Amino acid sequence: MLKVQAIPALTDNYIWLIQAVDSKDVLIVDPGEAEPVIKALTEQHLKPIAILNTHYHHDHVDGISPLVEQYQLPVFGPENAFIPKITNTLTAPQKVTIQPDFPDFEILNIPGHTAIHIAYLVNGMLFCGDTLFAGGCGKLLGGTAKQLYQSLQQLKNLPKDTQIYCSHEYTLTNLQFALLVEPNNTAIKTRIEDVKTLVKQNKISLPTTLKLEFETNPFLRCEQPEVIQSAQQFAGTKLTSPVMVFTALRAWRDRFWF
Ligand SMILES: [Zn+2]
Repeated sequence: MLKVQAIPALTDNYIWLIQAVDSKDVLIVDPGEAEPVIKALTEQHLKPIAILNTHYHHDHVDGISPLVEQYQLPVFGPENAFIPKITNTLTAPQKVTIQPDFPDFEILNIPGHTAIHIAYLVNGMLFCGDTLFAGGCGKLLGGTAKQLYQSLQQLKNLPKDTQIYCSHEYTLTNLQFALLVEPNNTAIKTRIEDVKTLVKQNKISLPTTLKLEFETNPFLRCEQPEVIQSAQQFAGTKLTSPVMVFTALRAWRDRFWF
């Protein structure tokens, strides 16, 4: 059994701490800064075992060096991706034993947000960095739309009850965009109200589940007639494949901010 907690960091990042139940040992996922992690570890008397990284962006790696200096930790991350202090490079298909207290982690290659990006799957929990977000997906910052589409297709094949631990609190903005794409999708309307309630209670909107994403995330719904129609309207042309719909949605999302 594993316990996961979110450490809010920077503007809207979450650093995930994965703890083996009945143990003080924790893994640190994507530390974009060190201070809030050190504070949580100290306050809760936790013992960091390793750092797991999904991709090289500064808001996922800037805490690595200070944490390694303080705790002498191994750093797991993707191959060829310039992760500071990396000791163990990972690529799919691979199962990695971090430490005997923890189950093995399965590695998935999910490029698109960046050209090289991995996810960690353990006990039905997916740590997917900036690839799949609650209600949305990552921007194209190095990878291609086709890569990101294929990565999301790969994630769609996971069990529906998979818990999604992504790296940012973008859920409400993502869902407002989702409603623009699918104005008649009542599941999106309901979810917006649910997330607003969480925000009012100072709670976070994560983790999400794959099932909920299937119902409300337009980037996983590129075969739905209303999504196709809206994407075609944005593109001003007929879109004849789901990947074309996805590419148009991603471009549209880049222009959309509340
Ligand atoms: Zn990123």
